[in-house]
Amino acid sequence: MLNNAPYRGRFAPSPTGPLHAGSLVAALASWLDARAHQGEWLVRIEDIDPPRCVAGADTFILKQLADCGLHPDHPTLWQSRRSPVYAQALEDLQSRGLAYPCFCTRKDIAEALQAQGVKRSRHHIAVYPGTCRPENSAPERAGHAAWRFHTQRQDPPAQGETVSPRLHWHDRRLGPQQQDVAAEVGDFVLKRADGLWAYQLAVVVDDAAQGITDVVRGEDLADNTARQIRLQQALGLNTPRYLHLPLVLDKRGEKLSKQHGARAVPTDSPSQALQALTAAASLLGLTRMEWDSQASPASALSESLRRWCQEWAARLHTSQGF
Ligand code: GLU
Repeated sequence: MLNNAPYRGRFAPSPTGPLHAGSLVAALASWLDARAHQGEWLVRIEDIDPPRCVAGADTFILKQLADCGLHPDHPTLWQSRRSPVYAQALEDLQSRGLAYPCFCTRKDIAEALQAQGVKRSRHHIAVYPGTCRPENSAPERAGHAAWRFHTQRQDPPAQGETVSPRLHWHDRRLGPQQQDVAAEVGDFVLKRADGLWAYQLAVVVDDAAQGITDVVRGEDLADNTARQIRLQQALGLNTPRYLHLPLVLDKRGEKLSKQHGARAVPTDSPSQALQALTAAASLLGLTRMEWDSQASPASALSESLRRWCQEWAARLHTSQGF
């Protein structure tokens, strides 16, 4: 189901630290694409994993965005306040047999995979062997259960229709993509045994709740898209268009991230914000911008927008036109 609603994009940072050069690129690109489509741009704080969140990082990120002139068109949404909505989505899946409780520890999974002779799995992440699937009549065990999405069950297809295990989707930059979620990823977690909501469920529920038509984010998240589309389909939600941006790498060729020591982008003064936006635009591959002393963050935004429309339009694969 493609969305024909007016463009609405979002930037969805996890507040694990302040914006660094890489995350500012995602913020800027999502804003540019929204503005290029005369669309709206929203910010959502993805703070569902408290152990990874840094106190005050959310307000700091919002300040950095504001310093750069990146103002959301609607109030910011905090995922930590949305538990009842995620619970409702999970209940919906449970009631249709699309989510089941799983009592396996990491060790259980590793042992089950070893017993099946599985040596090494994709991205070193174990494809869940399905131990607790209801059809395997796994005995109920003590302890807290995680909830997994059943990737091999779907609402029954219409008569004569077969459901292909491969999910095909289109990325505006990467072109046609496909994944067999059941075979390549397996039944993924919707709610963790410690009670925390999984990113996949929260992102799908909130993209739909906020009416997001277009997701623009880093390429490291592209691999999650098929899982998210499967969930959207299971929950009867629209699928947005997707555009995954090239990753910003550090000097060692690693993705810029807080874990790898990426530093906060300074934006306190207008000249710092101007510099930060200029660097982000150049990391996006937009032609270099030169400034005189009159320039402000707003000049960088309008120049970047002009370049985005000219330079990215030609590059993006889309059946809908840029
Ligand atoms: N919160 C995720 C992150 O900061 C981004 C999620 C998304 O854009 O779908 O990596």
